[in-house]
Amino acid sequence: MKRFFALLSAVLLAALYAGRPVQPALQAAALQEPKYVALTFDDGPRRDTTSALLDGLLERGAHATFFVIGQQIPGNEDLLLRMAEEGHQIGNHTYSHVSLQGTAEFTAIEEIHKTEVLLEELLGPGDYWLRPPYGLVDSRTSALVSTPMVYWSLDPEDWKKLDAGQVARQILQNVKSGDIVLLHDFYPTSVEAALQVIDALQGEGYVFLTVRELMEQFGTQPQAGALYASATQERSW
Ligand SMILES: [Zn+2]
Repeated sequence: MKRFFALLSAVLLAALYAGRPVQPALQAAALQEPKYVALTFDDGPRRDTTSALLDGLLERGAHATFFVIGQQIPGNEDLLLRMAEEGHQIGNHTYSHVSLQGTAEFTAIEEIHKTEVLLEELLGPGDYWLRPPYGLVDSRTSALVSTPMVYWSLDPEDWKKLDAGQVARQILQNVKSGDIVLLHDFYPTSVEAALQVIDALQGEGYVFLTVRELMEQFGTQPQAGALYASATQERSW
C-alpha cells in the first residue's frame, strides 16, 4: 500500500511538472515577439473614405495617424472628433497643401498656424505634429516648427497605383517593425489596401500604433523641428 502511494505521488508530481512546460513557453513568447508599425494617412479628411477607414480600424483594434489638410476640416469636424475619441493621432498637413521648401517664411507660418488653430478649437490645446506636404521642408522652415515632423520609411505610392491589391502587396513585401507607412485616406483603394494589410500583419504579430505611440515603444524622444522617417531614424533635408 505504501508503495502504491509513493508511486501515486510520483505520478502526480510528474503530471504537475508536465503542466509547466517552462522552456517551450519562453520559446513561444520569443517567436511571437510583437512588431510595431504606424500607418499614416494624408490629405483627408474626406467624408466617405475616411469614415470607411475609421470603421475598419475600429473593427480591427488598430490605431493610425491622420495628417489633415486644414481647409478640409470645416464640415468634417465629426470625423476628427471620432479620430480623437477612438485613439488615433491627428496631425497637421498645412492649410492648403503647400510645399514648405523654399516658401516665404510668412506663408509657411500661416499655412501651419491656420490648421493648428482649427485643430485646437475643435480638439483642445495639443501637440499637433506636422507632416510637410510632399515630405518637403528646409532648414529655415523647420526652425519655425514647434512640433516634431513626420516623414515615412515605406511609401507604396498609393496615389499613383490606385489599386488596393498592388498597394497592399508593396507594403507586405517591404514592411518591418518600426516602419512609418505613407498612405492617403483620400482614395478608396488606399483604404481597402490598409485594411488588407492590417488583417495580414495582425496574423504575424504586428500591432498598429500611432506615430507617437510607435516612437514611445522604441524609446525615441520626439524633438520639435526634427523630421522622423521611422521609429528610430531621423531624416535631414
Ligand atoms: Zn499630402
